[in-house]
Amino acid sequence: MRVTGLPPYDDTNIFARILRGEIPCRRVHEDDFALAFHDIYPQTPVHVLVIPKGPYVSFADFSAKATEAEVAGFWRAVGQVARELGLEATGYRILSNMGEDGGQEVPHFHVHVFGGRRVGRMVPKAE
Ligand code: 5GP
Repeated sequence: MRVTGLPPYDDTNIFARILRGEIPCRRVHEDDFALAFHDIYPQTPVHVLVIPKGPYVSFADFSAKATEAEVAGFWRAVGQVARELGLEATGYRILSNMGEDGGQEVPHFHVHVFGGRRVGRMVPKAE
């Protein structure tokens, strides 16, 4: 039987530890609602992760439970990060993996910001 959804929030996940300053990151932006930092295994010349400060497991969790202020603050931060990274002129991709089929590895909601080159097919062919 396939497991559906994700377990409850686990505050030992790697991004929770980055938020608490227990693990270093290459920070590019921080405000009341979001932290952005470079992905440790970049897939494109610019590959930044933007995470909300609140304890949300996934986009599904965030979209269902976050306050209006958290939702607005988070998405404005995503836009600001891309702008500050100089990606608007040439374009970029934002992406969030959710759950098993989405390929989510870290159970703290995050948005990937990819740029610095053409990023290719929107969704790769099935493996
Ligand atoms: P997911 O597959 O969950 O959407 O993406 C998780 C991302 O987190 C991956 O791209 C992975 O390279 C990145 N990542 C995992 N551990 C760390 C870490 O300790 N530091 C940073 N900066 N990125 C990480």
